Amino acid sequence: MHIVDVFQADGLPVSFEIFPPKGELPMEEAREVVSGLASLNPAFVSVTYSAGGGGNSGRTIDVARMMNDEFNLTSMAHLTCMNATREGIAETLGAMKAAGIQNVLALRGDAVEGMTTNDFKFAKDLIPLVREAGFCVGAAAYPEGHVTCLDFEESIEHLKQKQDAGAEFFVSQLFFDNECALRFLDHAHLAGIEVPITLGVMPFMSKSQITRMVFMCGASLPSPVVKLLARYEDDSKSLRAAGIEYACKQLVGLAEAGVDGVHVYTMNKPDVAAAAVEALGMAGFGPKAAKAADGASC
Ligand code: FAD
Repeated sequence: MHIVDVFQADGLPVSFEIFPPKGELPMEEAREVVSGLASLNPAFVSVTYSAGGGGNSGRTIDVARMMNDEFNLTSMAHLTCMNATREGIAETLGAMKAAGIQNVLALRGDAVEGMTTNDFKFAKDLIPLVREAGFCVGAAAYPEGHVTCLDFEESIEHLKQKQDAGAEFFVSQLFFDNECALRFLDHAHLAGIEVPITLGVMPFMSKSQITRMVFMCGASLPSPVVKLLARYEDDSKSLRAAGIEYACKQLVGLAEAGVDGVHVYTMNKPDVAAAAVEALGMAGFGPKAAKAADGASC
């Protein structure tokens, strides 16, 4: 199924992101994660891609294929173009097509020292190739602007360029402040963004994780999050539960605001996804809630 169609269906599209496991038996681990997610009826599940094409790029395809073939899920493979050649991208797209993948999130990837941007400078240069190859194409959106773009309005212009290049929907970077995200949607719509934007939410799990994420993506930390981090600084179990509860409240708030969709960064933890689906279900949104795993309920 093309993801653009899930936004036409009734109800709030709730989707998940996973990454290809790096362990000894990556496919076994991935199968276990996907099995947990499949029971939650997601609108689609996306699989991350290693920037620069190294490491786990083949695994992205393997995991997406497994989701399609074994679980009948709608998958989306991420694809980055930093350091890639046009020939290399064509080859990867061919492999994705052969694996039955229909949806691709076209990304530039983070700039890494030593990597070049010869053939593709920005994601907007990759999008037309993916579209021409017959995929349904999504791209990344940044509710607080991209971390390397200091001017918010310029960031919105870059978003518009991706839509003009053929992006059919956007998936947003994580954020902890719904007001920021809703303001961003207003700006995007005023700037002529007409394709659906699904908003990404990641529960915080630990102080180190949230610090890393904030530095990586420039998301602001509202004071309720800072207070929770301070309160549970020395109690990792309670901090995890508070992070899941905060994310669930964010998701319900977004659903109530009438957003196009919500995308949960599951960090390969089905209990996190289950808690999100349960909270949305209890508030009357999203796919039928499956029973949340013990200890992860909101
Ligand atoms: P672009 O849209 O090309 O933007 C990159 C930078 O260039 C931004 O600062 C932008 O403002 C600027 N820019 C864009 N157009 C112009 C222009 N015309 N002129 C001047 N400046 C311009 N990374 C991975 O490695 N693997 C993944 O699987 C992955 N998945 C992601 C999923 C989501 C939903 C999101 C939000 C991000 C993901 N990322 C992933 C991270 C992403 O690769 C980085 O954020 C990267 O730095 C930017 O990617 P982009 O596609 O948004 O790039």
